[in-house]
Amino acid sequence: MLRPDRTHADFQAAKTRLAPSPTGSLHLGNARTFLVNWALARQQGWSILLRIEDLDTPRVKPGALQETIDLLTWLGMDWDEGPIVQSDDLEPYRRAMQTLADAGTVYQCELTRSQIEAAASAPQEGTHETRFPPELRPTRRDRRFAREDTNWRFVCPRGDVEFDDLFRGNVRVNPSREVGDFVVWTRRGQPSYQLAVVVDDARQSVNRIVRGDDLLGSTGRQLLLARALGLTIEPVYLHLPLVRGSDGRRLAKRHGDTRLTSYRQAGVAPERIIGLVAAWCGVLARPAPMSSEEFRSALQVDTIPREDIIFTQEDDRWLKHRN
Ligand code: GLU
Repeated sequence: MLRPDRTHADFQAAKTRLAPSPTGSLHLGNARTFLVNWALARQQGWSILLRIEDLDTPRVKPGALQETIDLLTWLGMDWDEGPIVQSDDLEPYRRAMQTLADAGTVYQCELTRSQIEAAASAPQEGTHETRFPPELRPTRRDRRFAREDTNWRFVCPRGDVEFDDLFRGNVRVNPSREVGDFVVWTRRGQPSYQLAVVVDDARQSVNRIVRGDDLLGSTGRQLLLARALGLTIEPVYLHLPLVRGSDGRRLAKRHGDTRLTSYRQAGVAPERIIGLVAAWCGVLARPAPMSSEEFRSALQVDTIPREDIIFTQEDDRWLKHRN
């Protein structure tokens, strides 16, 4: 089992991040995650960084960055630092690649276009991930990160990765079994989502991470990368149950238009969105309009239901004042 000796994050000033991808489609599931993250931070005195994760190039839509910031503000959230935009400076990711190359823990490989696209975004539930077996790993490895116009994979160590989650307790995942040697850099000249998150969380001193539990597997990969980079602070994690449609699948376009922009344009007040999120989080027995400040004071991690949340047509009607 891989459990590196780390300095506990409690010894640092607590800091979290809101990390939206500006793809123009923040939906109710994202609103839930960001509101819980924001409320916990404000209750606990963690400082908040806004980080725009825009390395997901083909999916990033023009104007989406400003729209994302406007939506968070509209929902009553604020932050202490940022926005920091990932694509503004790729140098820290290049340096991290050089550290990995020095240690012989990365190698060049071929990737299809769809693999390159998949590597750019967080692998949310339903993302098809193919395992890359260690047998296909080349024996000769470049010790220099000399080419950034090619793809690179990480030599994924075998074994379980274990971490404590504030919501889920002790979690064990096994990246080598789940995905094998995962992608850290693509020939677009950009780091993968997995590498970018690790480098950013470390250099921005982020040590409280709140996100959906479809990223539990990614947490294992990120801890392995952090270890390979010699990072000593292990963040404290809180992975929240997913918001799903009534067919049980992760909330997405197929469940209708649940984008925050669309509700906003339809005249839905932010207090309604927050009120629905409050009901999902066990703050209210049923949805009722609520301000972000009220939500912040009332949220308790202990009352957040353990089960996944189901977004129903009734919820949609409630948001639109139709019942
Ligand atoms: N930008 C990622 C997303 O929106 C965030 C993932 C993370 O929290 O690490 O899915």
